Amino acid sequence: MASVLVVEDDQFVRSALIRHLTEASHTVRSVGTALEALREVAHFRFDVVILDLGLPDLDGAEALKMLRGITDVPVIIATARDDESEIVRLLNDGADDYLTKPFSVEHLSARMAAVLRRARGAGNEAPPPSVLRVGGLAIDPLRRQAELDGATLDLTRREFDLLAFLAGRPGVVVPRKELLAQVWQQSYGDDQTIDVHLSWLRRKLGETAARPRYLHTLRGVGVKLQPPAPEQPA
Ligand code: CA
Repeated sequence: MASVLVVEDDQFVRSALIRHLTEASHTVRSVGTALEALREVAHFRFDVVILDLGLPDLDGAEALKMLRGITDVPVIIATARDDESEIVRLLNDGADDYLTKPFSVEHLSARMAAVLRRARGAGNEAPPPSVLRVGGLAIDPLRRQAELDGATLDLTRREFDLLAFLAGRPGVVVPRKELLAQVWQQSYGDDQTIDVHLSWLRRKLGETAARPRYLHTLRGVGVKLQPPAPEQPA
């Protein structure tokens, strides 16, 4: 559910939009001119603005620029003009997305959902976690420190890089090729390089390939790091 401002001078299109958006449980306010739109965004908080480009008082591009001058609310341009260069220009000028008229309700809903998701994501964007945790492992990429169950691990640079890279994707099988490229910065190499480092790393984690806890090798596929399964009571 979002609060939506519809800026549309065509009464027919406007009523249809209001009806569809209301049915989709959004709260809607609507105006028919750019100046009214500016007044609305100055007074109310909206989650998204749907802006018709063909308004009676101001050119759409001008209206967008003025809107952007006072708010960073997501704006979806609704345009009858199927003019690619114009659309690209508007996206560069601060529109978040666009729809070419006539558009379906489903299309509008999908665009709105995407824009809202992006806006909400950007607003609550947490800083990247400074410490990666996987089970009892805590890896601090900035300080280049790693602990297992509270005990500091003494890792070489490469072992640390390997562990940190895998810890950033817990539970994901990382292909060997990707490890070579990301950890060793090599586009090719032999698997032995990885195997040797993996076995050193395993020893430091107190596990073996035969009895893995954190580091799992999938033969011919890649490697993944995941928290060990809880101990089964004996
Ligand atoms: Ca219009």
